[in-house]
Order: sequence, then C-alpha cells, then structure tokens
Amino acid sequence: MLVIVNGTLIDGSGRPPVANQALVIEGDRVRSVGALPAGIDLRDDRHVEILDAAGRFVMPGLIDAHTHLSYGYPVIPGEGRGRGPTRPELGVLKAARSAQRVLRSGVTSISVPGGTWFTDVGVRDAIRLGVLEGPRIHCAGRMIITYGSIEDDEPSWLGTPDHGVGVLCNTGDEMVTEVRRQCKHGVDFVKMADSRSGEVQTLAREEIAAVVDEAHRRRARVAIHSRGAGSTRAAAEAGVDWIIHADLAAEADLVAVAEAGIPILPTMTFLAMVLEASGRYGQETIQMDVGRMKRHFDRLIRVVEHARQLGIKILCGTDTGNNLFMPFGELHAKELEIFVTYCGFTPMEAICAATRDNAYVMGLPDDLGVLEAGRLADVLILTRDPLADIRVLQGGQHVAAVVKAGKRVDLERLGGDAPLALS
Ligand SMILES: [Zn+2]
Repeated sequence: MLVIVNGTLIDGSGRPPVANQALVIEGDRVRSVGALPAGIDLRDDRHVEILDAAGRFVMPGLIDAHTHLSYGYPVIPGEGRGRGPTRPELGVLKAARSAQRVLRSGVTSISVPGGTWFTDVGVRDAIRLGVLEGPRIHCAGRMIITYGSIEDDEPSWLGTPDHGVGVLCNTGDEMVTEVRRQCKHGVDFVKMADSRSGEVQTLAREEIAAVVDEAHRRRARVAIHSRGAGSTRAAAEAGVDWIIHADLAAEADLVAVAEAGIPILPTMTFLAMVLEASGRYGQETIQMDVGRMKRHFDRLIRVVEHARQLGIKILCGTDTGNNLFMPFGELHAKELEIFVTYCGFTPMEAICAATRDNAYVMGLPDDLGVLEAGRLADVLILTRDPLADIRVLQGGQHVAAVVKAGKRVDLERLGGDAPLALS
C-alpha cells in the first residue's frame, strides 16, 4: 500500500484544490482520498510506504493526447527518406528510450496517433509486460492515406514503404482491409489522414464511414487528421471518435461536430513550435511554410473558443516527437499554457483537459484522469503550484514524484541526458 500524506490535492475533476490528509493507493488503484481510513497504520512499514507531500501539489498524471514515438527524426545518414527510420530495430530502441523520458517528465499516459511499422504497439506491450518502464500507451498504426494526403511522400511508383508513417489505401475496400490488418496486430485505434493543410479533401465521406464502421465492429476507434472545413464536416458526419486539428472549421462545421458529440484535439503546440523553431533554425532548415502555420494558429484560437461555446470537448495534445524540434519529455504541458494564454482557459480548466478529459483518448474515460476512489492511481507530485503558474508542468523540472498504476517511478534511473540523436 502506498499512502501519499499531506499536500494540496488538485484531483483533476475541476473541484477546487484542497489540503489532503491521505491519498491511499492499493494495487494499481486509488482506495481513498481525504481522511486516512480507519485500520491503516502508517507505522506499519512492512505494508505501508509513505510519500510525504507536505508543501507540494498532488494531481493526476498528465496525459498527452498526441505524441509520436516512432517517427525517425533526426534523419540519420544512410537511412531512407520519409518520416521513419528504415530499420525497425533502431526505431523500436529509440521509441523505448523516448517513452521513458516521457514518463519521467510526469506524463503517465500518451495517445499515439500514428507511427512506423507496429513499433508503438510493440513498445506499448513491452511496457504492459514490464519489459521496460514507460507511460500507458494507446496507439494507432500507420495512418490510412490516399494519393496526395499528408505522409504520401514518395513518388507514386514507389508507393508507401513500411518504414513510412502512412499506408496508401486508395479505395474504400483497401482501407477496410488495412483496418482489419491493423486490428489483427493490436492497434487501439485507426488514424486516418485527410486535408493535408487546407481545403483539399483527400478522403471521401463514404470512405471515412467505411473505416469507422469496420474499426468499431472490431472495437477499435478512429481518429482523423483534418485541417480543412470540408473534411472536418465529413469526419463528424461519418462518426469518427475524435478530430485532430480542425483549424479551418467554420460555424456550420463545428455545429455538426457538436451534434455528433465528437471532441476536437487542436494540437496548437506544434504550430507554436514551428514558429519558434523558424526563428532559431531558419525557415529553410525546418522546411515549413511559417506564414501558413501562423495563420493556422490564429484560426485555431477562434475554433477552440467557438467549439467550447458549442459544448465541444477540447482535448490536450502536442505532437511531440513528430519533428526534430519537438523533444520528448519537454513539451507535453505546453498545450496547457497555450490554452490559458490564448484560448481563455483557466489553469484549472487546462489541467482538467489534460487529465479528466484526455482520459477519453486513452479509452479509459471513467478509469483515469481523476484522483478519486476506484480509479487508476496515476499521480504527479509537484514542488510548485500549477494553478499559480501553468508553466511549472513543463519539462518535468518541478516534478517531485511520479506514480503510475500505483507504482513509484524511479526518476533517477534513466540517468544523464540522451544525446540529441536519441531524443
Ligand atoms: Zn501528429
């Protein structure tokens, strides 16, 4: 039994912070919060481990709803083009190392919308089996794409090699077959990629619906990359489980999303970091249209505000790992700062988005994200108050302790800084 005594409890439900006597954890779950239950003897050190959080802040472990573990950045000489390392062996080891960095920064769960091979499935299972320590992972496989979609990066005569992040499926039948293949290999959800950057739709609504139908039949869910208004509307009508970005959605599109009860995962951190990185490395080096990214960022501020007015749930994710300038363990809480600074969230609302609300993308909406009796015991203890300054959640710099599924994480064990090539 692990008992966290003292500390200010921010339980993730949105309730105001309270001084807490004891958070009792038995096995992988919270047994109680509040007063220490009768019958527990804190002096019984054979059965009770005590973690004193006096003067500290106790909250649910963070969930990043958008992290990629198996993209291939940085590009290694001799490796192929595309987003992934061509050698799966190297990709798996990098992903495993990166996962450990994520957990030690206070992020106890990540949702992974796409990667190479079945790397993320493998790392997820290795963590589950206790082969290595890492965050809880809920993952997709390679993204379902068509000619011209995001991640269709090779000439058509080469197609999409297995080390790519996308897998070409140019008909509904091919998509359904790919859903079946990915489900066979254990994905938690299917990632589709529509409208690379704007209004051009690369998937038909019927195709999205066919994927949703097949995935749901196999108890997998569907998330979609959608920047354009038309694809956001089509995704809502086809019944996907969450929409990633939705930057260009207009009023009527958001109404359709609200009616379908689908959450939006805007992922503004990536856009903010493109702007920052272009200042640091130059636009040529990062090979991205910075002006367009700035416009998307500004549009997203309005989309998020508007979506919240319509009662659409906003999820909190960063796109960590999708590029060289998106390092693991550093940015997972940057989205909360952006929500507070630009989108009218209070710090408490931002914390709830990254805990209680993000539990949805882990497939555990009633089990994760709130510290109350019966739920999974993922706990983050901070030396500073995140409600006073939301930035203290970033980079693990104020983390005093991390507990995942009732077990304390050894914050020292990873040791040293991984060189850039492994980050
Ligand atoms: Zn992404």
